[in-house]
Amino acid sequence: MLKMGSTIGILGGGQLAKMLAVAASRIGYKTHIFDPNPESPAFEIAYHKTIASFNDNELLKKFAETSDVVTYEFENIPKSSLDTIEKFAKIYPSKNALWITQDRILEKRLFTELKLNTVKFASINSYQDFVVEIAKVKTPAILKTCRGGYDGKGQLLISKNTKKSDVENHLLYGPCILESFVNFNTELSVIIARNEYGDVASFDPGDNVHKSGVLRSTTVPSQTSKRVQLESIILAGKIINDLKYVGVLGVELFLDIEGKIIVNEIAPRVHNSGHWTQNGCVIDQFEQHIRAISGHRLGNGERHSNVKMVNILGTDIDSAFKNVDAAVHLYGKKEVRAGRKMGHINYVSKRS
Ligand code: AMP
Repeated sequence: MLKMGSTIGILGGGQLAKMLAVAASRIGYKTHIFDPNPESPAFEIAYHKTIASFNDNELLKKFAETSDVVTYEFENIPKSSLDTIEKFAKIYPSKNALWITQDRILEKRLFTELKLNTVKFASINSYQDFVVEIAKVKTPAILKTCRGGYDGKGQLLISKNTKKSDVENHLLYGPCILESFVNFNTELSVIIARNEYGDVASFDPGDNVHKSGVLRSTTVPSQTSKRVQLESIILAGKIINDLKYVGVLGVELFLDIEGKIIVNEIAPRVHNSGHWTQNGCVIDQFEQHIRAISGHRLGNGERHSNVKMVNILGTDIDSAFKNVDAAVHLYGKKEVRAGRKMGHINYVSKRS
């Protein structure tokens, strides 16, 4: 267990890192935030900060030497950065978990090995691959970059009318995955945690609404059946145990129109769809992550309230304080841009 006053290194200085740093501070830890952007929101809270590229091996080494454990707030970290850090500090979640979640093909193979339902998929490296595989996957389908995509970026919807040039242009971003399109009733996610002793704690599944690939809201309790919620938690447990994972993991799911639960993707970190836990649970996902990676017992994930979490995008921030009964969480980003995540609001009501 990390001693009181130890330092937790966090790669990435966005809002997730900021909320992790607040949680760490509350239970007696300092944080060292590493990010190339001097305007990173988490720098406000950090005890130590390093402004440098993720490829700066000298500063990565120094960062690791001053950290008792290192974690991260986003998955697109170069593997070489972690190779450097690993020589000087423990990394949680593990490099292996990060490696799998950085690549949509590896992720889907993991789901298949664990006998979990996932979409039909194929690896696409050329237009020739595409022609062969689209005949099996069928339209509509989605062509996604295997690496680096987030918030719906790097995705091309494939219909009968998609042009060869659209596919070829998309492949310029790098290797892709072709996925069958899921007709879903609901998108839901499970936020689950595991510590190094193998204890697992899950939060209740939440119903997610996305627009243009960006999460708009998460609502708990989920409107899905108890069976769906329980099965979702069990399958998230299978994934987290198989990876011998340490930390918080986000598991994104579709409930298709036939009632089948389909795993879409996993995120090796605290997750936007888990922000409701800040006002719906005694121990939220941020503290849970810090507890897990610092060798503590996990907190109870039980939900004490109903919550609707709504993201504040762009100029929505102007009306953030309109409802005096809702909990406002703002990230302190100076520049307001259309669609930029500026904060979120948790609307809390009595548990049902
Ligand atoms: P992702 O980056 O994979 O989480 O995708 C972002 C959003 O696009 C998801 O939350 C869904 O709303 C939608 N989406 C992604 N993959 C599929 C799929 N295979 N079928 C239908 N919708 C999808």
